[in-house]
Amino acid sequence: MKARRPIVIANWKLNGGIDLICTSVASFIGKHFETDIVVCPPYLYMRDMLTFLQYSELRIGSQNVSRYESGAYTGETSAQMLKEAGCSLCIIGHSERRAMFAENNLGCQVKVQTALNHGLLPVLCIGETQEERAANTTKAILLTQLSEGLNTVDLAGKDICIAYEPVWAIGTGLAATPDMVQEVHQFIRTELTRLYNEEIADRVRIVYGGSVNKTNATELLKQKDIDGLLVGGASLDPGHFLAICEQV
Ligand code: PGA
Repeated sequence: MKARRPIVIANWKLNGGIDLICTSVASFIGKHFETDIVVCPPYLYMRDMLTFLQYSELRIGSQNVSRYESGAYTGETSAQMLKEAGCSLCIIGHSERRAMFAENNLGCQVKVQTALNHGLLPVLCIGETQEERAANTTKAILLTQLSEGLNTVDLAGKDICIAYEPVWAIGTGLAATPDMVQEVHQFIRTELTRLYNEEIADRVRIVYGGSVNKTNATELLKQKDIDGLLVGGASLDPGHFLAICEQV
């Protein structure tokens, strides 16, 4: 029995469509989980997904959120809109957004606050690159991403999730080992205690992402501080994703 309710998040990225929604929901019909299972399809498909969700325990999330509430911000989608569309969480600061869309820690912090203001669970992604790990700066990088990404955000009575996603493990087939992930998650929890307090650090769910599949999921989930998984590529195969969720 895990100390915190586990959560498994599917990040479809720029993939999928109605077919994948139908097959994904179909494979979850009638199944019960003691885990939160959240699928993050592209924005355009959220409403379609919602139509089918009454038949399963799946929930929907978004892959991003605007830092703005409303106004002249072409191409943006606000937290309020996501909430209205039936979203329960939003991924913030994924390394692909940091690398390709110039997102930074300060922007992430604003998005975390915005998500909380609208009752969405923010999933703040942090992770080091291969070069940073080789240079032994992993913990320093993670601490900067964590402290700047959460700076001044009041977490009293609020739920937040941290996703540890080493950049070198994403989409490469080279998942971090369970020991490596446990060490980092424990470090994150210790730092959360320092930045906030023990009650908050104990409550925050810390999930791992990076080449998770049905083969490595079990060992990862056995670790004390791994509260769930963020799954990219493997979530595009509904049978495979179900097999991962069934191991939690
Ligand atoms: P992956 O992606 O499972 O394909 O490595 C994870 C992610 O980017 O969230």
